[in-house]
Amino acid sequence: VSGLDAPVVTDRVSTADGREIEVAANVGRPAELDPAVARGADGVGLFRTEFLFLDRAAPPDEDEQFEAITAALDAFPDERVVVRTLDVGGDKQVPYLDLPSEPNPFLGRRGVRLSLSAHADLFETQLRALLRAAATDGGDALAVMVPMVARVEEVEDVLERVESVAADLEREGVAHATPDLEREGVAHATPDLGAMVETPAATEMAEALAGRLDFLSIGTNDLTQYVMAADRENDGVSDLHDPLHPPVLRAIDRTVRAGHDGGAWVGMCGEMAGDPDLTPLLVGLGLDELSMSAVTVPAVKQRVRDVDTETARELAEAVLACETRADVAALLE
Ligand code: PEP
Ligand code: MG
Repeated sequence: VSGLDAPVVTDRVSTADGREIEVAANVGRPAELDPAVARGADGVGLFRTEFLFLDRAAPPDEDEQFEAITAALDAFPDERVVVRTLDVGGDKQVPYLDLPSEPNPFLGRRGVRLSLSAHADLFETQLRALLRAAATDGGDALAVMVPMVARVEEVEDVLERVESVAADLEREGVAHATPDLEREGVAHATPDLGAMVETPAATEMAEALAGRLDFLSIGTNDLTQYVMAADRENDGVSDLHDPLHPPVLRAIDRTVRAGHDGGAWVGMCGEMAGDPDLTPLLVGLGLDELSMSAVTVPAVKQRVRDVDTETARELAEAVLACETRADVAALLE
């Protein structure tokens, strides 16, 4: 990765012609919060909550999760913090959850699929902690995102569960945010609600998902795996697991357009977002937010400032017309 010596910029950055792009951090454990602040991240675009569940004998209770979420909000008092609900299954195993042993774990019960079936109890606890955290001082900066969405029905189910958890907290007299899920059928809730787009199914349905949510965030690590049918962990197919392949770029383009048509903002939180050499292309594709390992935040902010939106859009159009990865790479040179 180039530009790792770029100076830290704590303010938001805009392109040379004035389009603001949020450059946020991916955070996998609490110890990564301070370094993300130090690198000038505009909040957290992906707070992976798996750390709360791994390497222990039992799941964290509601209070422990509440503390972890409010700690992230406290680290970024003026910026959005996107907390992703539990994304286990696939390659991430948790012994005490008795996850099914599956012949194709990446095509099995992972992410929101588990949250809506075998582990609905864990999901409910997590939603309670999130709605409580959203009601704290500064909690309106909290956003909640669900992983591995493949169907509109899953999002509808999630919204129903959010409502039901809010009703439970209300009955119990516990302070919580009350999402307004009825307004024109669109979430626009506190906390903001979003979905990761990391399956081709979600790409195809992005407008419908966006119409029910506040935002979408493209997870290119998994999206590349599923578009290219190439295991993200298998070195034997690492040449295929590359987001610069034209079908992946076209899937990203369609997602951004459809997401905007559906009224949502669209970000990206896969590894691709943190490559400063791809910043002009990603701005040209219309992404509103890029979230990455904190270490690349300064370099990406530096690149954003040099981008001219119109030139970037022309670059994106030329790249989208390419039929091979080699042609894409040649254009990006
Ligand atoms: C992704 O799939 O791109 C993503 C950001 O999620 P994870 O890497 O945690 O699966
Ligand atoms: Mg993923």
